[in-house]
Amino acid sequence: MLENSYVFKIQRYSIHDGPGIRTTLFFQGCPLSCHWCHNPESQAKPLKTNGEDMDRVAAGLMEEIEKDLIFYDDSGGGVTFSGGEPLCQPQLLFRLLDQCREKEIHTCVDTSGYGDAKILLKVAKKVDLILYDIKLIDEKAHKQYTGKSVARVLDNLKQLSNQTAAVRLRFPLIPEMTDKDENIDRIIVFLKEDTIYRDIHILPFHRAGEGKYQSLSMKNYMEGIQPPSKKKVLNVKEQFESSGFSVTIGG
Ligand code: SF4
Repeated sequence: MLENSYVFKIQRYSIHDGPGIRTTLFFQGCPLSCHWCHNPESQAKPLKTNGEDMDRVAAGLMEEIEKDLIFYDDSGGGVTFSGGEPLCQPQLLFRLLDQCREKEIHTCVDTSGYGDAKILLKVAKKVDLILYDIKLIDEKAHKQYTGKSVARVLDNLKQLSNQTAAVRLRFPLIPEMTDKDENIDRIIVFLKEDTIYRDIHILPFHRAGEGKYQSLSMKNYMEGIQPPSKKKVLNVKEQFESSGFSVTIGG
């Protein structure tokens, strides 16, 4: 594996980060600090390196990506740039997207939407599919549970919609935080009034990242909180479907 200060983990054979079998590169650094984050180690900014040659870094990562070409071809998969927040490292991200396109490798960028609009719109031109999280509509709740304002996330999604960019919306279903009826109703109203998107993937909270908080000496806000019940997940699915959305559980 060739992890480095920009990409803290490379996961092969992933089936949760876009279509088919994928290699997922987790970028270091995220401006948000979601209470339910499964990758809390990703939140710190990457260490500064002294003028490291970005072309060389990208070339090393491309070598890793290309090892699994056969799986991408057979499954309709490809590579996903996740994190952390890949929009925080545009120079590396642009290089990788350009090289994947040259080699006809399908690409996804998994983003919180909290990034510079110019960078996001440039990414939209280079990527095959954007995986975009919509978590909370209420400004106060968004700040409380992610640390940042929601305005940029919503505005960026409107801009993608105006460009008819290929977007897969993802709604993390987090008990006691995002799962309130009012939040979901307001998300539905926003999407219907301000965007073209009518498909949504529900991502139910799971406790996979739990052990990391202790080892990083970070507060685990999810301690003792159980994943949503099957009934709750189906109720939320129904809430979106009855408003005309096509819903997938997972991915
Ligand atoms: S946006 Fe993703 S990586 Fe960043 S803190 Fe939230 S869950 Fe973690």
